[in-house]
Amino acid sequence: MWLREQDEVMCTKFFPHPALVAVLLSLAAAVPPAAAQEEVRLGMLAFRPKAEMQQHWRPLVDYLNGSVDGYRFTYSAMNYPELEQAIAGRGVDFVLTNPAHYVLMTYRNGLSSPLATLVPVEDGRPVSSFGGVIFTLAGRDDLTRLTDLRGHRVAAVERGSLGGYQAQAMELLRAGMRLPQDISLVETGMPHDAVVTAVLAGEAEAGFVRTGLLEAMAAEGRLDLRQVRVLNPQQPPGFPFLLSTRLYPEWPLAALPHADEDLARRVAAALLALPHDGAVADSLAIHGFNIPQDYEPVRIMLQALRLPPFDAAPEFTAHDVWHKYSWEVLAATLMGGVILLLAARLLLLNRRLGVERQRVAQQSEERHRLLAALGEGVYGVDCTGICTFVNPAALDMLGLTAEEVVGADQHALFHHHREDGAGYPLTECPVYQTLRDGQTRQMDEWFLRRDGSGFPVLLTVTPVGGTGGQDGAVVVFRDMAERRRLETELRTQATTDALTGLSNRRHFLAEIARELNRIQRAPAQPAAVLMVDLDNFKGVNDRYGHAAGDVVLRHFATTLALSLRGSDLVGRLGGEEFAVLLPDSSLEHGGQLAERLRRLVAAATVTADDATVCYTVSIGVTLMVAADDTVDRVLARADAALYRAKDGGRDRVASEPPPA
Ligand code: GH3
Ligand code: MG
Ligand code: MG
Repeated sequence: MWLREQDEVMCTKFFPHPALVAVLLSLAAAVPPAAAQEEVRLGMLAFRPKAEMQQHWRPLVDYLNGSVDGYRFTYSAMNYPELEQAIAGRGVDFVLTNPAHYVLMTYRNGLSSPLATLVPVEDGRPVSSFGGVIFTLAGRDDLTRLTDLRGHRVAAVERGSLGGYQAQAMELLRAGMRLPQDISLVETGMPHDAVVTAVLAGEAEAGFVRTGLLEAMAAEGRLDLRQVRVLNPQQPPGFPFLLSTRLYPEWPLAALPHADEDLARRVAAALLALPHDGAVADSLAIHGFNIPQDYEPVRIMLQALRLPPFDAAPEFTAHDVWHKYSWEVLAATLMGGVILLLAARLLLLNRRLGVERQRVAQQSEERHRLLAALGEGVYGVDCTGICTFVNPAALDMLGLTAEEVVGADQHALFHHHREDGAGYPLTECPVYQTLRDGQTRQMDEWFLRRDGSGFPVLLTVTPVGGTGGQDGAVVVFRDMAERRRLETELRTQATTDALTGLSNRRHFLAEIARELNRIQRAPAQPAAVLMVDLDNFKGVNDRYGHAAGDVVLRHFATTLALSLRGSDLVGRLGGEEFAVLLPDSSLEHGGQLAERLRRLVAAATVTADDATVCYTVSIGVTLMVAADDTVDRVLARADAALYRAKDGGRDRVASEPPPA
């Protein structure tokens, strides 16, 4: 019962008959030594203790020694590592091993194709191949297809068994299941009977066993085949047992690459010629040898299940890749090329963008510097009048910070009141007007500082962007306070006498000419004109000094100014000579004022340079009327009156009426 006792994984039992062993031993001893003959070494895989197996194979070696002339066959039963070492080191010439190991050794050491396949006897019948059986209890109607096993408890001897696990795993893999993860594996250990027992006892819901096992147990009365049902039943022609998987060949005998070809041929011939069921076969408990089976299914199975030698990832050369994935490689190369091109273009664009960004940054920096360097205030507003930027000069003038200005409404922040303190309606703000009509504007305006004080500005508003100025505007302003002050000062200088602060001659003459004009347009309102001259002033200078004379001149100017109405005008015409214009006045009124003035001066004393100075004035009075064609004529008349006062003894008033 070769198949029953051994497994392809060196785990089963082998019991040669002791009597048979004795006969064979004596036969072997009878063979004469052939020292001169060439030695041929056979290596047999030992699936039982080596000594036992050494005995077991002796009849076969004896048979070969008797059948193949000119050679002396020796043999050695070896375990896996020993046999593998012997094959690698050319320590054997022929090998008899199990199918999976044969595939492994062929892969590693290049064994020849099998010379012959061992044909064991199973249940009294010769079978040169075997497979796996997947079975469950007959009553388990829920387990009919292979995929029904998913997640269920399944018993098997162990994962290394070809007929008891791997063949089934391969079948389930074809059905789309991966073992052991897709089932709950119950490993029983050898022998295969234990699997049947486990299923019958309900310890597992299905079982994996080697072909022939169920029939053998039934023959021994230990199992009623009706108790079990086979899943995925197969019936290859001539195969006598229940089967769930495809068939795999039995043990091969193969030559090593270095073995002589003619010798190999003769060994193969001898093995095939070994009489089936003859004495030698009987003594080996086999049927005999047959022509070699196809071992490709074993290789495919090992590869699919990723078992040695296919447990490591295969080495893949560039050629393999090209051969298998040429289209994909081409497409990937093309795409890679396109990606490279795009990347290059992107790089180029990026570089250009970088340069452009640098240029813009430079421009922005320059603009910033320019804005900062400008003495004028500059700020920008968006289309709603909100400040978007402001330069340091503007902040300096306004007394504000950039944080306070940017994001704020410029009108509400520093343009809300006019110079005269009146509110400034937003609608009249020139910035908003420009935002509305897109027109550039320049005008004098009034801005307010943070502290509430204001200052005059010259404002220029320029629209930005769209034709209607919708994008915003840039506002430039200049503080005009100093300029205004200078203008005022210049204007004052031009019209005022520096010593007395009164109107100078030019201004007085211009004003009196304007008044004459007015009178000529409205003749009903004449004006009185006084001409005043300090008496003997030369003497004051001579006696008290020029500085004291100046003090006297200023005293007179003050006295004069205090005596007049706001609408009256006084001018210093030169030296110690003054003129007074009294609009809307009569000659009489002019005379009265002149007289009052004369008395005031005469009564006054002026302290100058520790001296007390007294002085008098003479005054000529006339009336400026519409009939006067020139101012000179009026002044000449007043002068004439003045001379009369002088001639009359000074410190007096004389009048000269206008021509009738
Ligand atoms: P009269 O009564 O006839 O007018 O005699 P008077 O001395 O006042 O007249 P006169 O024209 O002879 O002298 C005028 C003097 O006024 C001469 C000049 O020195 C003096 N004078 C003119 N301008 C100034 C001035 O700005 N300061 C001083 N201290 N004296 C001045
Ligand atoms: Mg004088
Ligand atoms: Mg004079």
